[in-house]
Amino acid sequence: MALLMILTAQFLQICVAQPPETPSRIAVVGAGIGGSAVTYFLQQQFGAQVQIDLYEADRIGGRLATLTVNNQQYESGSPYIHSLNLHMQGFVKHLGLKHRKEVAGKNAIYNGEQLVLEETDWYLLNLFRLWWHYGISFLRLQMWVEEVMEKFMRIYTFQAHEYAFSSMEELLRSLGGEHFVNMTHKSVGESLQAIGVSQKFIDDVISAVIRASYGQSVAIPALAGAMSLAGTPGNMWAVEGGNKLVCSGLLRLTKANVIHGKVMAISLHSSEKRPIYEVRYEQDGTLSSQNYDLVIIAAPLHKTGYPISFHNFQPPVEQPNGTYHRVVTSIVHGYLNSSYFGFSDPKLFPFFSILSVDSPDSSFFSIESLCPVNVSVGFRRKTPQEAAVWRVLSPRPLDRKELKTFFKSYYSVQVIEWQAFPSYMSVGPSRSLPPIILHDGLYYLNGVEWAASSVEMSAVAAKNVALLAFNRWFDLHEKIDQPDLLHKLKTEL
Ligand SMILES: Cc1cc2nc3c(=O)[nH]c(=O)nc-3n(C[C@H](O)[C@H](O)[C@H](O)COP(=O)(O)OP(=O)(O)OC[C@H]3O[C@@H](n4cnc5c(N)ncnc54)[C@H](O)[C@@H]3O)c2cc1C
Repeated sequence: MALLMILTAQFLQICVAQPPETPSRIAVVGAGIGGSAVTYFLQQQFGAQVQIDLYEADRIGGRLATLTVNNQQYESGSPYIHSLNLHMQGFVKHLGLKHRKEVAGKNAIYNGEQLVLEETDWYLLNLFRLWWHYGISFLRLQMWVEEVMEKFMRIYTFQAHEYAFSSMEELLRSLGGEHFVNMTHKSVGESLQAIGVSQKFIDDVISAVIRASYGQSVAIPALAGAMSLAGTPGNMWAVEGGNKLVCSGLLRLTKANVIHGKVMAISLHSSEKRPIYEVRYEQDGTLSSQNYDLVIIAAPLHKTGYPISFHNFQPPVEQPNGTYHRVVTSIVHGYLNSSYFGFSDPKLFPFFSILSVDSPDSSFFSIESLCPVNVSVGFRRKTPQEAAVWRVLSPRPLDRKELKTFFKSYYSVQVIEWQAFPSYMSVGPSRSLPPIILHDGLYYLNGVEWAASSVEMSAVAAKNVALLAFNRWFDLHEKIDQPDLLHKLKTEL
């Protein structure tokens, strides 16, 4: 009788399906928006029982950062988010954060000698001026950007249905076919010329916008160019209190175990079942290591920041090609020299932001009057006859002479040198995109920046990596790299 009971129990054990094993430990390297978002999305996929350790060598937020002038904080890294950036919108809502109150202001473009384009308060007058100077080029540009954005927005539907892509090329192909993949090879200048945008418009306007957003020329890839051209003053926003609050908020929400340490190396250890990854890191001068089932690298692996070496991988994990582009932010508290821009009377200078076109003498990309991260009711932008906080973006630190040229006088200057964006020209015209899967359970998020580098692109890549890791872990191959997804979803619905 006892034997019968034992056999029955064993039989029942075999018959009752075992729940699939989830990963027990996951490591994320980097606590910028990419690392914070992937932590949040990984927890959504795998559940709260999976331990996630997040390593950060410097500060939470990465390129989302603030600094303090006169007891108020200002964005010193990425200041703006596009209104169609749905992951960022979702995070802000979910975390109970708010959009910062918008403070209107006008833009102008400077060509090294004079202002070539000046925005006015009147929408129709602005349109008329654009038409007068550049014909219908601006309409062609608008239609081109809208088409790209419309296709890009498909990613939210695909991700809501838990589809993932194993490479950036597959992701882009699903959004806009081979044309979208080619947009990472072809330059924005060439692409705009091909649709009939005039060279004068490209030289005067497009080049200034690309310089202000990427610190580079119109030779950058068309996709990255379209993303920066999509941002117009009316459709950009920021987080009240600072954009970096999204990163700290997501980490608090997920209760991730944040380790303030620098990851030095990742080694592969094979086991009978799945590979194990050993993460070696330095914390307060001490070297330690921990083992993980999955590791997500959410920091640029290019020769920038804190290098990570890879051991025992066959084939070896290669450092991706290319370098990052230096952009220097100078936060200046002082009086703008409006006469440099042709306005001897500062009272008549109406602009809050001046972009500069690509010219041999221009030593800045943009100069912009900043609002603090907390905008109180009744706040107004300072006029040039008052001391204000200005952000100057430039290719190298401004010397004393340049500071004296742009500012009549100043109280303080704080300088941050960023390895800000991929240097798109550093990889040659082929511009192949870095891989997402480095090994079975080792993923790389920041390759996305070589298609386009922005806060939302990192969030999109984070969601993709979380879905990809989940779908691969549970062998859900039908949810990876599905062709003709748009059509498939339409017929499913
Ligand atoms: C000046 C400037 C202006 C910008 N303006 C805009 C804008 O207006 N709108 C927009 O959308 N985007 C803008 N961007 C781009 C945007 O900020 C980035 O694309 C985005 O923040 C990248 O986020 P990330 O998390 O992928 O990388 P990061 O923010 O760089 O985060 C990576 C993190 O990893 C950490 N790390 C690196 N190596 C290691 C290691 N070995 N061990 C542990 N930790 C490590 C780093 O310290 C860092 O905190 C701007 C960027 C700059 C610099």
